[in-house]
Amino acid sequence: MRDKIVAGNWKMNKNLEEALQLVNELKVANVDLTPKIIVIPSFPFINSIVNTLENSPIKVGAQNCSTQDSGAYTGEVSASMLKSVGAQYVVVGHSERRSYFNEQNEGLAEKVNQCLSNGLTPIYCCGELLEERESNNHFKIVESQINEGLFNLSESKMIDTVIAYEPVWAIGTGVTASPDQAQEMHAFIRALIAQKYNQQVADSISILYGGSCNPKNAKELFSLPDVDGGLIGGASLKSVDFMAIANSF
Ligand code: PGA
Repeated sequence: MRDKIVAGNWKMNKNLEEALQLVNELKVANVDLTPKIIVIPSFPFINSIVNTLENSPIKVGAQNCSTQDSGAYTGEVSASMLKSVGAQYVVVGHSERRSYFNEQNEGLAEKVNQCLSNGLTPIYCCGELLEERESNNHFKIVESQINEGLFNLSESKMIDTVIAYEPVWAIGTGVTASPDQAQEMHAFIRALIAQKYNQQVADSISILYGGSCNPKNAKELFSLPDVDGGLIGGASLKSVDFMAIANSF
């Protein structure tokens, strides 16, 4: 009933030639797959990749967007610009943006709004730090990230969002959340949505897992009832690994 999604967050990796090579490998490999597949390159490559993927079911996303529509904001990229080059998704609030660029829930809510009002699907990231889990504050932290970043949306906008739960201690570390930890948090997030909106809305939103997801652990994670796919970092940089993950449903 809700989309299965595997999204590859390339982060600040690859030059144009390497990016096009990866996408051409994926294009050839992509046959008859269950999930929606999304590649998320750096800004300068989006348009070329969209063109390369013409007639392919693979979709293209961006890693960030501005809180602003247009104007004197040097260095920023707006959601409408991303839309105009063919992006369909935008990662909002990745933990690296939260920690290195001090992004806060309030500003992220504005980015979510920018995406939705420009016809882009935000992939809204949430997740706790290790010390927050160790002090048993992980549910509280994720609840406030969801509450402040997403829950100002109307029901009709909320159903156009995707959520990614990415425990920060699992990102790029090789330590994956256990199936129990992932399922518990995904079910918690879905229950929050049901409480705020209703069960139908909660059941329609894809909640992806992110954090050291790889071809070995993807099958078990994706078999969990509330895990609808993955946001993949490191393992999305090689076509064989990414396709293996995409074939894990
Ligand atoms: P990772 O990154 O798969 O390399 O842990 C995931 C992410 O940051 O989205």
